[in-house]
Amino acid sequence: MKQANSTLSALGTTIFEVMSRLSEVHGAVNLGQGFPDEGFPIDVLEVAAEQTLKGWNQYPSTMGVPELRQAVANHGQRFYGLDVDWQREVLVTSGATEALAATMLGLLEPGDEVVVFQPLYDCYLPMIRRGGATPKFVNLHLPDWSLDPEELRAAFSPRTKLVLLNNPLNPAAKVWTAAELQLVADLVQEFDCYAVGDEVYEHLVFDGRRHLPLLGIDGLRDRAVKIGSAGKTFSLTGWKIGYVTASPALLTPIAKAHQFLVYTTPPNLQHAVAFGLSKDQTYFDGLTNLMTTRRNTLAAGLSGLGFDVLDSAGTYFLNINITGLPRAELGDAAFCEWLVREVGVAAIPGSAFYDQEPLRNVVRFCFCKKQSTIDEALRRLSNAFAS
Ligand code: PMP
Ligand code: GLN
Repeated sequence: MKQANSTLSALGTTIFEVMSRLSEVHGAVNLGQGFPDEGFPIDVLEVAAEQTLKGWNQYPSTMGVPELRQAVANHGQRFYGLDVDWQREVLVTSGATEALAATMLGLLEPGDEVVVFQPLYDCYLPMIRRGGATPKFVNLHLPDWSLDPEELRAAFSPRTKLVLLNNPLNPAAKVWTAAELQLVADLVQEFDCYAVGDEVYEHLVFDGRRHLPLLGIDGLRDRAVKIGSAGKTFSLTGWKIGYVTASPALLTPIAKAHQFLVYTTPPNLQHAVAFGLSKDQTYFDGLTNLMTTRRNTLAAGLSGLGFDVLDSAGTYFLNINITGLPRAELGDAAFCEWLVREVGVAAIPGSAFYDQEPLRNVVRFCFCKKQSTIDEALRRLSNAFAS
């Protein structure tokens, strides 16, 4: 028999699926895959229910329902002062995952290069490679995941088509500074390429920091693609509603890819997300405050057990450096496997976010959980480690 596609058939099952299933089998507390178990906005759920019962449940336009496209444009203006034409610059997708796939398939050509940062989210490389392009890696450096400007410059070449940047960064929980983003923007202009911002955690930025979309960085208004996700902004990760904002020249090929990947996205959920994005500031502040409290609880609990907890400036996640902990010498993957089987707590090994030269001493925990879920995880960890 002839071989199936070599890029995709060579891949394993994603670490999130693996850990969530292991967590179920072992009755573990799941601090692995990033999904909330509280904080769902009831009014957004009600709009979805009402739209399901009384609304239009047939194919909406491939670009998305006008109400949501307008809401995304208004959201860009309200939070970042971006002037967005909803009819020419906004596309609704089936989650940020599909937005990323459509962006890579829509913009890349065989022979292109894409600059990416390690650690990186696991769906990027398959889509870059399936788009025919070659990833060029820039490693961020512990303890604060800093960026070396020389290493960044060295990753660019005349073949660079785009740079793909996740801000806030999963799993590192780094929020990129204005200076770092400007450095990227300057190179994007110098090498005449594009910048794609995976900004799904834009409303999960802590301690008074501000999210800066790539689209708003000097020189990037016509070169950047902004990707958002209702899953994160409304704690409804199973909904898979994403949105892309970009200048018409970039959005058009992305929309072409989208129309043949999924064509469109459920209209009931689109209407509910449109309602959600127009909620008042108390909603967005409440989300940030709740996640800050949960981050603080988990960070304090893990520090109290003697773990080396790395800073978490944004996202759903915080990391520990396992160096010196029992079993750390086996590496992060074996450590996490032992943790889920024997301790009853699921986490994600940091090496899963690397393609090359993986770090093997970082483990990611997710804190978008009820206080009682975090307490139970800490109790189990304390039984295993406090001595
Ligand atoms: N990008 C990052 C960095 C993520 O963590 C996730 C996880 N949900 C996604 C994209 C995918 O988002 P969605 O569920 O909207 O497809
Ligand atoms: N983004 C989630 C995480 O990092 C996982 C989403 C998924 O499983 N695809 O935990």
